Parts: sequence; C-alpha cells; structure tokens
Amino acid sequence: MSDPRRSIPSVDVLLEQEPFASLLSAYPRARVVEGLRSVIADVRERVSAGTDVVGIEQPELYAREVEVQLAQKDEPSLRPVINATGVVLHTNLGRAPLPAVAREAMARAARGYSNLEFDLEEGKRGSRYDHCVSLLCDLTGADDALVVNNNAAALVLALNTMARGRGVAVSRGELVEIGGGFRIPDILERSGATLVEVGSTNRTRVADFEEACADGSVAAILKVHRSNFRITGFTEEAPLQELAAVARAHGMPLLHDLGSGLMLAAESLSLPEEPRAAESLANGADVVAVSGDKLLGGPQAGLLLGGADAIARMRVNPLCRALRVDKVTLAGLEATLQLYRDPERARAEIPTLRMLSATEPELKVRATSLAERLEDAGVSSALVEGKGAVGGGTYPGVELAGWALSLDHPDGAEVFAARLRLGDPPVIARIADGQVLLDPRTVHSEEEDALLRRIIDAWTGASTP
Ligand SMILES: *Cc1c(COP(=O)(O)O)cnc(C)c1O
Repeated sequence: MSDPRRSIPSVDVLLEQEPFASLLSAYPRARVVEGLRSVIADVRERVSAGTDVVGIEQPELYAREVEVQLAQKDEPSLRPVINATGVVLHTNLGRAPLPAVAREAMARAARGYSNLEFDLEEGKRGSRYDHCVSLLCDLTGADDALVVNNNAAALVLALNTMARGRGVAVSRGELVEIGGGFRIPDILERSGATLVEVGSTNRTRVADFEEACADGSVAAILKVHRSNFRITGFTEEAPLQELAAVARAHGMPLLHDLGSGLMLAAESLSLPEEPRAAESLANGADVVAVSGDKLLGGPQAGLLLGGADAIARMRVNPLCRALRVDKVTLAGLEATLQLYRDPERARAEIPTLRMLSATEPELKVRATSLAERLEDAGVSSALVEGKGAVGGGTYPGVELAGWALSLDHPDGAEVFAARLRLGDPPVIARIADGQVLLDPRTVHSEEEDALLRRIIDAWTGASTP
C-alpha cells in the first residue's frame, strides 16, 4: 500500500488551483504560502497519526483551512463586548465607556495634526500640558493642573517630585492595594521616597502625624482615599483639614490620592458621599490625584490638581516625560470635562453617570421589554432584583437597586455563560445561584438588539462551545 502522505499535493501545484485564486486576491501571496505550508504540515501529521483525511488530494480542503487560519489571525485581539454584568466601572471590561462628544474629539485628534505642542497665537512651540488646565482649574478650584497617563502615574510623579530620597508619612490604615498589584508602599518606594508609617490600622490621630513630622526626615504627607474597602468599628482618622495644618506648620506638602474623580455632588447621582477634588483642595490639600476613567467617566488619565508651585515642579520633573499623556486622550478628556460645565448635561451625556443614576423603575421597564422579546423568541426568563455595582474599586459594598433577567439554561449556567462570551459580540454576564443574570444597567440601548440575538443563539446552542 502506498504512503497516503504522497497524495498531498505540493505548495506550488495547489497555488495554481482554482480555489486559491480568491485567497490570493484577498491576502498577500506570502501569507497564503505560509498558511498553506502550515496546513500541509498539519495534514501530514494527521495522516502519520493514522487519521484518514478525506479529500487529501482536493485543493478545496487546503484552501478552506488556509482561509480559516488567515481569518483567525486577522481577528482583533481587543474587541468590543456587551457588558451585562451591571458593574458600571468594570476594570476588566475597560472601565468608563466614553461620551459621544469625547469619542468624536478623539477621532478628530487621531485623524490629523493638532496644536498639541504648538502655540497658534505666537506661532511657536507650546506645551501639551496646557490643554485641559483652565477647565480643570475652573471645575475644581485648583490653581494649576497636570494630566498624565493614569492616577498611578500621577502618584509616582507627585511622590518623586516632593519626596525623592526623603520620607513620606502615611497612615497605617491607608497602606492599601488599589488592584492589579498596585500597592501604596511599593509605589512609594519605587518613586524614590521612604515610607514612614503612622498610627495603626484602625486608628490614626493627627498627633501621630505631628510626631512623625517632627524628626525632619519627612518631606510630605500622603493621604490615600480608601476607595475600595471600608473599615468600621473602633476607628479614627485624622481629618484632612487638620492634616493640612500639620503639613503647613512643617512647610511640607499634603498630597491626597483620591482615585475616583467624582466631579458632581454624589447625592445628585443618588450615591453616598464620596470626597471630591474640589472639597479636598478647599480643605487644604496641596495636590490631589484622581483618575480620568473612574467616576469622572472619561478616558484613562491621571489628573494632578493643586497649587501652582507644586504642579510646576512636577511639570519639569524628567519623569513627567515618561508618564506623559497622549493627544487622543487629551482630546477625549477635554470634551468630557467640558460637559461638566453644565451638570445636567454631564449627567445626561456621560455614560458612566447615566448608568449609575438609572432608576429602578427605568431599569424595570427595560428588563421587562427584553424579557418579552425573549419570550416571543421562545426563551423564558424571570425578572429578578438586580444588584448592580459601581465597580472600578469605588463604592465598596454599595449596591445599585435595579432589575436583571435571570435565565435558567438546562445545560447549566457555566455552559450558557461561556456560549454568551464566545460569540460575536461577546456578552459578559453574571452568575448567581446557578442562574445567568443579565443586567440592562450597563447595556447601551443601541446594543439591545445584538444582546437579544446573542442570547437567543446561545440559548439554542448555536454558538460554540
Ligand atoms: C484607582 C485608584 C488609583 C489608581 O488609578 P489608575 O487611574 O487606575 O492608575 C490610585 N489611587 C486610588 C485611591 C484609586 O482609587
């Protein structure tokens, strides 16, 4: 019996065949050849393993497999997904979705040249750090502002500028991990400063800071907002105003790492109190650091807000160049911040704020309509009280009242959720008590048709696995 591997046509012969004509017009020849070689190698391996490969002499077999392989390689790795988890600032899903005006501004900045570092009036070199400054000052009462890559970068830059080679006093109750291995003690050390721990985990008094600052090794005080956890019980915290007085008395800056970037009164979003940059500056912080893509609802960025001297020193720190912000980000941030000049507009147009302030009756109407449309397609679901979350390491333990669809698939929640995830667009759901929960809070209304199509496909098992 002859070796079946000898039936495999050669690369040159196959490329001449009809089924390869369309592939060669769609892809560069080198890619088709490379793909074909790997398909041939794969067929050879299957044959050697004793598999009977049907159509081993047919060019169609090879063309089909090459096409699948090339298409797979061209799939983007970073893809849009439908977030049906109800977690608004889902860090794994890219945090804040951007307002339309920001997306448009980003596209404009990306498309062509801009005055990023060019002074149009003077006709000479300008600074990228001038953009957004007056807006940020107007919105927060800061004297000056500096935008960098993210809040982690803002912290590194501030600490390195204020305290390189010196001590930074931090309460033991605020030596926190923000997430993704980002820990305040580590970041402080990498910034070239030395950690001076103050007080205890649950109680830190102003007197503790006074004592720490007395010995001359401390160059700055850092207060970190406990954004992603709460401590309760027998606790005490040094008020910001009193910390500011200690810092002033010792001629050192007080840096407040706030994180969230909330710009509107929390109660206007029906959320519990959360410190804001404007308040923190008014209460005596010299520099405040916040994120652009948490409660601010803009692109990933770190905002340093504060006194003119402190910000000016950071701007000329060589590290600033390594942490600098991109033009596309600046365009999106500026457009987002502009919305805050009118709080009504900010609440209506910034998706993060809109999703956070969606009311229970609104969400019930949306969930009901989704359930009815599913029912029409033969998919039964139940309405359950959905507990959305703010996410992004903010508002720990705060549940957002709403409604979600609960689906009980015979193949089990894990299998059904995997099918939802693996289709196009991927749908990310939550699993609770063996049910798949889909929360409309984080689904844009224009995504609803795609969501329904994906649920129906996944329900009938049309998508893999
Ligand atoms: C989120 C957060 C950070 C990190 O901000 P990124 O923008 O993600 O780098 C730092 N500090 C606090 C208090 C935070 O909440």
